[in-house]
Amino acid sequence: MIAVIGGGPAGMMAAITAARMGKTVHLFEKNEKLGKKLYITGKGRCNVTNHGDMEQLFGNVMKNPKFLYSAFYTFDNIQTMEFFEELGVPLKVERGERVFPCSDKSSDVIAGLQRELKRLQVKVHYHSTVKKIEATQGRVVAVQVEQGGKVERIPCSSAIVATGGLSYPVTGSTGDGYRFAKEMGHKVTKCVPALVPFEITEAFVKEMQGLSLRNVAMQIYAEKKKIYDSFGEMIFTHFGISGPLVLSGSSYVLPYLEKGENLRLSIDCKPALQEEQLDQRILRDFKEAQNKQFKNSLDKLLPKKMIPVMIQLSGIDPEKPVHSITKEERKQLLHIIKNLEMHICGVRGFQEAIITRGGIAVKEVDPGTMESLLVQGLYFTGEVLDLDALTGGYNLQIAWSTAYMAGMAAQ
Ligand SMILES: Cc1cc2nc3c(=O)[nH]c(=O)nc-3n(C[C@H](O)[C@H](O)[C@H](O)COP(=O)(O)OP(=O)(O)OC[C@H]3O[C@@H](n4cnc5c(N)ncnc54)[C@H](O)[C@@H]3O)c2cc1C
Repeated sequence: MIAVIGGGPAGMMAAITAARMGKTVHLFEKNEKLGKKLYITGKGRCNVTNHGDMEQLFGNVMKNPKFLYSAFYTFDNIQTMEFFEELGVPLKVERGERVFPCSDKSSDVIAGLQRELKRLQVKVHYHSTVKKIEATQGRVVAVQVEQGGKVERIPCSSAIVATGGLSYPVTGSTGDGYRFAKEMGHKVTKCVPALVPFEITEAFVKEMQGLSLRNVAMQIYAEKKKIYDSFGEMIFTHFGISGPLVLSGSSYVLPYLEKGENLRLSIDCKPALQEEQLDQRILRDFKEAQNKQFKNSLDKLLPKKMIPVMIQLSGIDPEKPVHSITKEERKQLLHIIKNLEMHICGVRGFQEAIITRGGIAVKEVDPGTMESLLVQGLYFTGEVLDLDALTGGYNLQIAWSTAYMAGMAAQ
């Protein structure tokens, strides 16, 4: 019997693959249902994978991409899409090659996986927390499972660890897999929250809390070195900033933050306009509002919540009549719209991190099977491994591909 530990995307895929190979599979999930985290992915729409080419897939993996060569080439994004279509979950490709279910419902992805688990007669144990994996003479022999306050020893030939990382622990991923791995002699690299919002030094972010900016450009500098330059959507929060542009940026920022470097970011609020064009635009607005006070002249140019902050940063007297604003003052306004500067003083914790960076060291895992190189019959898949990628469906692809490998190989 193969014991799959964890009913997230990796666990479900591993269980399905092993069962399709004719194996008897038991899936243990500590929660009352499967895929609690999968349910909240992609803001409830589930960005299942990314339709980009192989170069794009590998290019978006931030840690240990080489380890994924076998897995990505054996079960790639196109096979993932075919897999879901066959399960009765039609998919669509959106901006950035992101793949979603046509229904925009992550629950349909989970339902498709559950139908297949049922068809293959995988025995799913809910409310079942695996406490320990037993091995004798370097081979997995059993799992100890807590169910309803009692711990039962269940013999098995293989155990596939698919317990996830440490991010969003409310969904069940509380790092149990790292403990199992350590108990079996595996090295676990340092785990830190990744794809995570920024905490910002400047107090003005709080004033703009809730304001979402759609098409802005962001550059991040560690000391003087530019480490991130991208374009997209962000949102101001009570502690700093979040949103897709920020989450992706966090992957680049983490190593510098750990070194304690000074991290400055600059937002171009009007990236579609060259400075010259923006100046013309401001001049036009100022002309229309020439007899108004400065504070009442920016409604067309900037979102409402941003106006008081920009006025303050511009240093221009808010009561000043627009017709008496000097060229230098106008240039300063233009400068801050094109370069809204902030400093990153930290990132949020695991509670708000999309993924965990760090995990079970991949050099002790066979990349062709996901089997431990230390203990026979022990497999690791998904986020529990020291692998992570940017947003765009890549993290789920890591789960599908690594789980497929383990499901195929487990005996
Ligand atoms: C808000 C949010 C949005 C995201 N959106 C996307 C997206 O759109 N696209 C994308 O590619 N990625 C996305 N991700 C990342 C993606 O969800 C993860 O990479 C993925 O869920 C990892 O899958 P997993 O199966 O390894 O772990 P998990 O999904 O964490 O599943 C682990 C399971 O194991 C169970 N478990 C843990 N310990 C035990 C134990 N001892 N016994 C029994 N069961 C146990 C847990 O309860 C859990 O159900 C998002 C993440 C978050 C938090």
